[in-house]
Amino acid sequence: MIDLRSDTVTKPTMAMRQAAFEAEVGDDVYEEDPTVKKLEDKAAEMLGKEAALFVTSGTQGNQIAVLTHCNPGDEVLLEANAHLFLYEGASMSALAGVQPRTIQGRRGVMDPEHVKAAIRPDDIHFPETSLICLENTHNKAGGVVVPLENMQAIYELAREEGIPVHLDGARLFNASVATGISLHRYADQTDTVQACLSKGLGAPVGSIIAGSYDFIQKARKWRKRLGGGLRQVGMVAAPAYVALTEMVDRLAENHAHARQLANGLQHVEGLTIEKVETNIVLVHVNGLGETAESFLHKLKEDGILAVPFGPTTVRFVTNYGVGGREIDQVIDRIISSYLY
Ligand SMILES: *Cc1c(COP(=O)(O)O)cnc(C)c1O
Repeated sequence: MIDLRSDTVTKPTMAMRQAAFEAEVGDDVYEEDPTVKKLEDKAAEMLGKEAALFVTSGTQGNQIAVLTHCNPGDEVLLEANAHLFLYEGASMSALAGVQPRTIQGRRGVMDPEHVKAAIRPDDIHFPETSLICLENTHNKAGGVVVPLENMQAIYELAREEGIPVHLDGARLFNASVATGISLHRYADQTDTVQACLSKGLGAPVGSIIAGSYDFIQKARKWRKRLGGGLRQVGMVAAPAYVALTEMVDRLAENHAHARQLANGLQHVEGLTIEKVETNIVLVHVNGLGETAESFLHKLKEDGILAVPFGPTTVRFVTNYGVGGREIDQVIDRIISSYLY
């Protein structure tokens, strides 16, 4: 099977398995695991934040951020197709008791004027706007890189209003590799950030959240409340450290493979391909008279996996388990099914 469903399907490399085998460990609830400390220090340094915390998943990291920044009854502003809104089981409402308020962006990018207009004035009828969430790269928009200037503009107005900004940077590494802008310049435009180590970077488990010392202290308590206080966590922090320090630059290969796929499919009549910016390729199949489901069913019979991303839209995500030769095979199989 050529698996392009997600970059989460990646399996730990030999170096990661070796690092797990050799990891020095302790009880991290007592803050005695040297390996997770090393990972957190490195992540804080790379993101230019005072401190960082290893969490079990991107969803847990985002939700800890919401829980730490907000009180029940508050309102959170975020893009209409944000992962935090679409794909986290309404956990900000279920767990933090906050109300999401969405702002329609263009390819995932919110207009700062729209964000400003959505901030609630001081009035007894209104919830308090207590957090703005950004997402970079934007998953649902197709791996779009949110421009640094856009983040800057939103952060500036948020600071004027005294509202913190959280970045869902599940794929921030992809944004940084695609633009050459460092991770910490992106993270400078937000108070807190969540970054996934278990996607394109290939760690088996875990995400990082980073922010001020004070934020991380409070976040540590929320992580414990959520059952995310782990014991000899160095076993998974060690491969995550390999992911963070050895796997970032090679994301450029995934981006090249995504472009290769998009270019190869470009001439298939009936397919519309969204502009590729990182490792995600969105393909609209309605012009073939197919639904996402019927198209994916045929692909699967040809040994290719992708996911539906709307009634007639399919998402392919390149990852290190799939090389250039396999991408050519995917192109060939789609062309031979539909071009002749
Ligand atoms: C994958 C993803 C998450 C959640 O990460 P999990 O580790 O799957 O919980 C959050 N935000 C975005 C943009 C993602 O792509």
